Amino acid sequence: MMGNRPVGKKRLQHPAACPLCDQAQETIDHLLVSCVFAHQVWFYILQRFGLQELAPNLEGGNFDEWWVNASGRVFGQVLNGSNSIIILGAWNLWNHRNRCAFDGASPSISNIISITFEDL
Ligand SMILES: [Zn+2]
Repeated sequence: MMGNRPVGKKRLQHPAACPLCDQAQETIDHLLVSCVFAHQVWFYILQRFGLQELAPNLEGGNFDEWWVNASGRVFGQVLNGSNSIIILGAWNLWNHRNRCAFDGASPSISNIISITFEDL
């Protein structure tokens, strides 16, 4: 079974659907890996470094597995770089999700991407 951990259950009232795509139940793994929104964010961020083939596919899976798998496909300097990109991308996706869920922000792929490139 793939990871299916609900995010923020019982903590605050907000829709159970993913605030970024509004199409699926929100779990950490959905949010970071299998969400169509996250998928595009990862693709554009990784593409900038020629690493777009590391982007998660939409078939699901969980974040840990994807990261281990992605790390296993690159070496040396690229590995250090891709780890930084993945940590930062995940962090920015999470923050963006919070702004959409709690502050009424609208999901914006270009917003996450520009923040991530500034940080990198
Ligand atoms: Zn989603």
